[in-house]
Amino acid sequence: MKKLGALIASFAIGIASFTPFAYAQDKGVVGISMPTKTSTRWISDGETMEKLFKEAGYTPDLQFADDDIPNQLAQIENMVTKGAKVLVIGAIDGTTLSDILQKAADAGVKVIAYDRLIRDSGNVDYYATFDNFQVGVLQATSLVNGLKAKFPDTKPWNVELFGGSPDDNNAFFFYDGAMSVLQPLIDSGDIVIKSGQMGMDQVGTLRWDGTVAQARMENLLSSTYTEDKLHGALSPYDGLSIGILSALKGVGYGSGDMTMPVVTGQDAELPSVKSILADEQYSTVFKDTRELAKVAVSMVDAIMGGKTPEINDEKTYNNGVKVVPSYLLKPVAVDKANAKDVLVGAGYYTADQIDN
Ligand code: BGC
Repeated sequence: MKKLGALIASFAIGIASFTPFAYAQDKGVVGISMPTKTSTRWISDGETMEKLFKEAGYTPDLQFADDDIPNQLAQIENMVTKGAKVLVIGAIDGTTLSDILQKAADAGVKVIAYDRLIRDSGNVDYYATFDNFQVGVLQATSLVNGLKAKFPDTKPWNVELFGGSPDDNNAFFFYDGAMSVLQPLIDSGDIVIKSGQMGMDQVGTLRWDGTVAQARMENLLSSTYTEDKLHGALSPYDGLSIGILSALKGVGYGSGDMTMPVVTGQDAELPSVKSILADEQYSTVFKDTRELAKVAVSMVDAIMGGKTPEINDEKTYNNGVKVVPSYLLKPVAVDKANAKDVLVGAGYYTADQIDN
């Protein structure tokens, strides 16, 4: 009898320790649709969310869309079919999702725009992102600081502008933020855009493609800078900066009396951090993707628990149909002087990763 009791007890413990894992934690499927794997930030965004959702008892379905719009649509459709309760979407093209989001809304699925605003749809519930205008302000401020530091005796400074992808709402915020700093200096004659190419329609870089930025920089160098020297390039993303820098190195900048122009960036990607420490790229903007992932996960958890997610901005992000309630995180400017302190200090990289 005693033996049987012990047997039943151990069986019960077995079930009890197994049960929470199999059932109690199952809070439902969350679709995570990320735009691409070509930039490490999106991989880290996706993987951090996947981990946090698992820890919180959800079943994440993480997909990367290879910067291909039909692919992203098919992946999201599939998530809805699988019964996802919430979708967290980093859109490739912020204007292409209206139909699938209508289907999702009809099925009662909630939607969070992740990092990039989803436009032209009323079916976007919340937006988790960084202060994107401020990103542009930081980029242009560091460009100007770099010009003063590297070319103290030169005026006007010759600068060229690069924009992000015109189908990404963020690209306009970055550009406008940057121009809020640069336009007064252009008006006063301190900065000259020698090519005359300004405005997102002329300086945008489709799909944030570094090879496109490199080709445009090469063209600018051969059309506009055979006699005059370039002093700075506003670049909104590290992947473009790498392309711009290779065009510059290709014609001899960075050696002899050809001082490397000031080139900005964004995302603190490892190759760019190394480039900054090697005095090539001048700066980047660090956006802690782990924090953004946390915001998105807590938004989902609030929605699923019948609560209202925490937001801190209710006016900035009008998507053409509605103002989407948003949570904005703060970006941080990084250059050679603070790169290690900020990035190693935050535990984003180890000192070893940066040094080797
Ligand atoms: C993101 C940036 C990123 C860019 C290219 C933007 O939407 O906000 O962090 O550099 O896309 O991936």
